[in-house]
Amino acid sequence: MRCIEPGDPAYDQDRRIANARFDYRPRRICYCANAGDVREALQLARNEKLRVRIRSGGHQHEGMCSGNDVMVVDLSEIDNVDVDSNGMAWVGAGATLASVYSTVWGAGRLFPGGGCGDVRVGGLVQGGGWGPYSRLLGLTCDRLAAFRIVTAAGQQIEVHGTTTDPNHKLFWAVCGAGGGNFGVVTEFRFNLPRFDGVLTSFTATWNDLRYMGPVINDWRSHFPHDIELRLTSFCRASTVEAGSPDPAAVVAGFFVGNQPTLEKMVPSLLPNTWRYATKIEFSPIHEASALPDSRRGFQHFHYQPGPPATILRAVTEPAVTVAGPPTSTCDGVPYPHKVSSCFPVPTFGADAVRAIVDYLATSPSEPAARRYLSFHSMGGRMADPSRHQWSCFYYRDKPFLLQYQAWWADRNDDALTKRCMDWIRRFRESMKPHTEGSFINFPDRDLVPNPETPEGRKALLRQYYAVNFEPLMRTKGLYDPENFFDFEMGIPPEVATEPSDTAQS
Ligand SMILES: Cc1cc2nc3c(=O)[nH]c(=O)nc-3n(C[C@H](O)[C@H](O)[C@H](O)COP(=O)(O)OP(=O)(O)OC[C@H]3O[C@@H](n4cnc5c(N)ncnc54)[C@H](O)[C@@H]3O)c2cc1C
Repeated sequence: MRCIEPGDPAYDQDRRIANARFDYRPRRICYCANAGDVREALQLARNEKLRVRIRSGGHQHEGMCSGNDVMVVDLSEIDNVDVDSNGMAWVGAGATLASVYSTVWGAGRLFPGGGCGDVRVGGLVQGGGWGPYSRLLGLTCDRLAAFRIVTAAGQQIEVHGTTTDPNHKLFWAVCGAGGGNFGVVTEFRFNLPRFDGVLTSFTATWNDLRYMGPVINDWRSHFPHDIELRLTSFCRASTVEAGSPDPAAVVAGFFVGNQPTLEKMVPSLLPNTWRYATKIEFSPIHEASALPDSRRGFQHFHYQPGPPATILRAVTEPAVTVAGPPTSTCDGVPYPHKVSSCFPVPTFGADAVRAIVDYLATSPSEPAARRYLSFHSMGGRMADPSRHQWSCFYYRDKPFLLQYQAWWADRNDDALTKRCMDWIRRFRESMKPHTEGSFINFPDRDLVPNPETPEGRKALLRQYYAVNFEPLMRTKGLYDPENFFDFEMGIPPEVATEPSDTAQS
């Protein structure tokens, strides 16, 4: 096991996480190469009375894979991707999605990962995992067959998604509760379907703000209900900044099939707005593995977040004019950001869309930020009710998921940070009549008042887990009764007590 501490030349680089809003200084960062190292790191943390944070890729949006004066147990060196001829794959928690996609595609299989090549499997799958193949294959966790985990007691167990496995409750909890709660997962075993390598993406953009509402309405009326499982899409509506590369509206998607079929299908799914699009692109992905690493996930420029280079450098180096493609966090560049998420209530309709357009259209300009709302299509295999038995992800019957995002250029600009944070909070609050719940992979710790209190935390976590929250607390009580893996949005343990002799019947 290799550990980095303050004073080490690598410390400042190694303590970086994907959200530059946080500037944590851990006491120690321990790079684990196997389960034995993880056990050793956990024992060291106990001996030194250090709180533990677990990190695979460091992309947790609220920075909860790190902290001040903690021990970070880092899994990035456990990054194996081993696919056998039956499509069963052991994947290390520290494998990047880019490396998983390229190895798995090379083996003629499809992996239901997320949209950003830099995100790692360890965090993605435990939060459910939404991505470009979700309607066809389900969430990332829906293709999980087993995993290996080191528990708080330092025990390594292999857990299978079968009713006969004595730890099947742990399997259910790990599939969707978000990482960091139950132990350190070192490897995941996936069951991956065959893939003939034919993949096509499309992107349509509308620059004119007048089409934002009609595009959202067209998208929500057709895409999430489309019976063609092979197409997973998103729609995005942005504030329109002078000089920004973001159009008012984008609809884009990935299709596991060929371009002629997709070209025929998509216009009919946007019957009222397709002909007004500013730009339409279809791209066959013939040589998936030849793509640059960061783009192998979801090769959509518009899906990749982060301020464009033009904005970033215009702020930090006003004399420099930058040409070329925007940088993105998917290239490993951390930007300060805040996200929030929710799901539509059944009555979500045209008035909700009007509220969205009003908010975006009247937001004061913020040239050093990118701010938008994305709709991620759900349905398809994500909606399979039989998955409830194997995954605690609650909101399976929703047609789509909403994600509010603000990314800005400079974490040292306190006023900019506050404006962006407030922008997210006000947007989310304005949508309360139309939305409910939240997605743990797009977490927001500010959904309720006083989340730092025990009651506040429970109210917060109920937003994410709904009726699954109580069973999750009981599962936590079974595997981590002393709450060794506690963190700000961690599930508190509920420890079963034996009925006492004096208990009332
Ligand atoms: C740029 C960007 C793009 C994203 N795109 C998508 C997307 O398309 N789809 C989607 O669903 N989500 C997406 N996310 C959210 C992302 O999936 C989650 O943040 C995910 O948890 C990140 O995993 P990680 O290992 O990279 O991050 P980490 O921060 O290392 O881990 C996330 C959480 O899991 C815990 N954890 C990590 N590894 C382990 C482990 N081995 N054992 C136990 N606990 C662990 C951490 O403590 C932390 O709480 C994106 C995030 C970013 C920043």
